[in-house]
Amino acid sequence: MAVAGSGIPADLTQGEDSVESYIKKLVLQQKTGEVTEQYAITKHHWKPSDSRKVCATEGCGNRFSLISRKHHCRRCGEVFCESCTRYQMRLNTLASPDPQGRLQKYIVSVYINGERISSFLTFYCSFSIDIDMEVRRLKEGFKESVGNSEVRRTFLELRKMVGTPDWQRATYWEYTSLSTMCCYCNKEFGLLQNRRHPCTVCGFMACGDCCSKDLIVYIPNEEKGSKDPEPRIAVIKIVGCPEREPDMCVYLRICSQCHLYLEEKQVQKMQQTLTDQLQKTDLFWTKIVEAAKKLSRIRAKINAHLPKYQEHINTMGIDSGAPRASLQGENGIQVLARAQCDMSDLFVTFVLAVESIRGIQPSTTQQTTVLKNLVRGNYNFYQETVFLFRELRKTLEDTTLTSADILETIQKFVDRNAMRAVYVFLKQLALESLMLCDKFTLNNTVPVQFAEAEEVVCQDLKQCIKDCKDDWAESEEDINNVLKDQIQRLLYGTQ
Ligand SMILES: [Zn+2]
Ligand SMILES: [Zn+2]
Ligand SMILES: [Zn+2]
Ligand SMILES: [Zn+2]
Repeated sequence: MAVAGSGIPADLTQGEDSVESYIKKLVLQQKTGEVTEQYAITKHHWKPSDSRKVCATEGCGNRFSLISRKHHCRRCGEVFCESCTRYQMRLNTLASPDPQGRLQKYIVSVYINGERISSFLTFYCSFSIDIDMEVRRLKEGFKESVGNSEVRRTFLELRKMVGTPDWQRATYWEYTSLSTMCCYCNKEFGLLQNRRHPCTVCGFMACGDCCSKDLIVYIPNEEKGSKDPEPRIAVIKIVGCPEREPDMCVYLRICSQCHLYLEEKQVQKMQQTLTDQLQKTDLFWTKIVEAAKKLSRIRAKINAHLPKYQEHINTMGIDSGAPRASLQGENGIQVLARAQCDMSDLFVTFVLAVESIRGIQPSTTQQTTVLKNLVRGNYNFYQETVFLFRELRKTLEDTTLTSADILETIQKFVDRNAMRAVYVFLKQLALESLMLCDKFTLNNTVPVQFAEAEEVVCQDLKQCIKDCKDDWAESEEDINNVLKDQIQRLLYGTQ
């Protein structure tokens, strides 16, 4: 007896089963959730129903009665109350998870980053939620689907009306999406009222009250134009979230549990950055104050020396075009030459000091401004004074009254200074090579060679100093002072 157009397979209408009994069976299946024998999941592992008087869920304690019926978790076989078996999962007939299997009742427990969460779920078939991984998924998804494009962001808003985009679905979304009530307050979900809202982090379903749009994935405004922006994530209204709404952002739902977890992490991170910043700031200001002091010392010296230099030129009468007779003999030339060399030295030290400020790393905009102003102010000073100095020197060189012996004397001082620099440099090299030899237990051929070269340079230097009619002992002390500084820097890395 074939039933045309009824949709019932012909072979079922033959044999023992009548259509009537088949329909009866179908209705029964739907009522009980039982399936035909060939799909039946094993019950061998079920705990005997009478082994429990209360729900096996830790902390649930629901007592079984005529109204509160017993339910077996199809996965672990324990006995639970109805609200504790609200989830479904695809299992094969041997009760193992299987995407091809049928949906079966089961209970879940949740571990968030290895820590058991006991507030709302139970402890048998566990989910291990790796929040860091889920957060990464959200950031990457945002980057891919929105990135820096305003158009794509608008599209995302529209797209959300059709359903949750894949990147907003958590690892366990597939399993939890079948839950029938809020996992926090147990309110039943409805089609129109009290709709289910998945947490975009853990994937569990909650009502709107227990799962709010408090998570923001965004690209900081300062990175907006960049080619490869790095999305951030933050819980809003918590310290560490952006102060103003970034242009490129989406708000996502987050359940109370994940809210708590991420909030705590965010606060911790904020505290850490604040401590780091404070330490960095301290270091910055110490360095900047030191540098500023050093610069002002050199500036004071330049300010004191420059008028003296000018005075020397004036008293020699070169400036006024007075006859050569006003030159105060050889002694006067020496003083002038020395003053000129001192000035040159001061300018070199000054430029080096300004350069060294550039090595200080600012970490806030305020610090950058301070640093910039310090560098700019000092460069302006340099420009002004060095211009004056050059003008004076030019007068000296241009004047017809300047005799060869003045220039020669100046040259002597320049030579002396160059020689002194070479000498200091050699001494330093010798010391460094000695340190290296010591560290790596090498033989001391190189340091010995340096020492020999040093001896030769020392003789030349002595000659130069004599030519300038300077005192060797005094010069030696100067040199030693410079060397002491250098060694200290070499050994302790301080300035
Ligand atoms: Zn179970
Ligand atoms: Zn229960
Ligand atoms: Zn969550
Ligand atoms: Zn709720």
